[in-house]
Amino acid sequence: MSAGVKGLRGHILISHTHWDHIQGIPFFAPLFVPGNEWDIYGPKGLGQSLREVLAGQMDYTYFPVTLDQCGANIRYHDLVEGTFEIEDIKVSTRYLNHPALTLGYRLETDGVTVVYACDHEPHSRILANGQGEITGYDLQHAQFIAGADLLIHDAQYTAEEYPAKIGWGHSTVEYAVKLSNKAEVKRLALTHHDPSRDDDALDRLLASAKAELRENAASLEVFAASEGYALNLVRAHEKHAACCVGDFQAQTLVDPALTEPSVIIGIADLKTGAALFEAIQAEGIHAKLCSDPDEARKFIAEDRPSLAILEHDPPRIDGMETCRAIRQQDNDPEHSMPVLIVASELDQARGVSAGVTDWLIKPFTGAYARTKVRAWVLRTACEGMRRALPQGEEPRFAPPPLPIGPPRLRTQRAKGSPRQMPHRGTEARRSSDKEISTEKAALLWMYCREVAPFETPSFGKKIGQLIAHATNTPAEM
Ligand SMILES: [Zn+2]
Ligand SMILES: [Zn+2]
Repeated sequence: MSAGVKGLRGHILISHTHWDHIQGIPFFAPLFVPGNEWDIYGPKGLGQSLREVLAGQMDYTYFPVTLDQCGANIRYHDLVEGTFEIEDIKVSTRYLNHPALTLGYRLETDGVTVVYACDHEPHSRILANGQGEITGYDLQHAQFIAGADLLIHDAQYTAEEYPAKIGWGHSTVEYAVKLSNKAEVKRLALTHHDPSRDDDALDRLLASAKAELRENAASLEVFAASEGYALNLVRAHEKHAACCVGDFQAQTLVDPALTEPSVIIGIADLKTGAALFEAIQAEGIHAKLCSDPDEARKFIAEDRPSLAILEHDPPRIDGMETCRAIRQQDNDPEHSMPVLIVASELDQARGVSAGVTDWLIKPFTGAYARTKVRAWVLRTACEGMRRALPQGEEPRFAPPPLPIGPPRLRTQRAKGSPRQMPHRGTEARRSSDKEISTEKAALLWMYCREVAPFETPSFGKKIGQLIAHATNTPAEM
């Protein structure tokens, strides 16, 4: 803009909508200039859309201009885990460990890879000290950042500070350095600096990290990110590490697989149970209590829940045993329901043998519980969408045209022609109207895409509901 360029075109990738990551948006002048075009990407939630969440911080009470009054043409993209493209850049997304659903972004283009991973907390509390073996979800995180030419990583705390900050959703410098070394990252930009640290304190922290790397003869280059710092990355000649994220289209509208999601809960501790119920209710999810493995199996067969949350605190309650019983019933172990174990300690080895998917370590906050539930319900929905497609069809799983705005009929898009984007600015629509038009859009889109066989019962049921809903509503398409 300062160079007088008109018609600016850009993309903004948001990891999550905590205020420290979105408060710049209302003050970002290029969004207010007519003729500019912006695409804003962020993680999909279970209730509000990304656009609605961003509009919330520009509500009358907080800001004189609403999001819809921005002059530029803005498109919003709600993302799940997977991949998508921005021009010639391949973008892969993966959930991070934070008390809000947060995406890490891996960008690959021209033989160069950049990964952005803020805000993220180590899954293993030992690894936060930079010690121990990298396993489980920390290993998957290492695979996500593998071979990056530049990794921009959360490093808010030091190992010494971490014990007082458990559950705050941030990494330590030691963790970021250890994972970068393991994942053969070339350059590491430490960021999300603690607000109480001044520049001198940051310099000291950096000097000690560099000294340790020199001692271990590590080739990793580390620096502290600072405002306005620019870095030129050039293609390296060695082979690049492949990204571990699959080909699922990250912009897929997964809502058709999200009607009436349910969760089963096996918790003995009253306080933990109450906290979990509150978290699940806040996400608008139906919860069923089960007290023993038989009951769990019965619920799974009847309801096909998105997730099971089981407490493990023997002899009072043996979540691992229930998990094992659930797994024995699985006829398709590769696509089985996720099981989240609530325990005081992570027991990776026993968890793997019992078929545990993920852990919620006590004590946890309500925000952490909500995020875990949200992530797994969304992952199950994505898995449902993926399985509904014939093999090898994933790349066609593009988003439907109108999550927001008046519905309009859309003919099948010719290969290579630009995708029609959702219209903005229809805040006043009643939510039921919006729901119906979203359902119609989803239905139409499925027909257009010839996604015919919906083998899973939950999917079949959803399609039935969609057809009933759409045919009972006056046509406006
Ligand atoms: Zn955050
Ligand atoms: Zn943050």
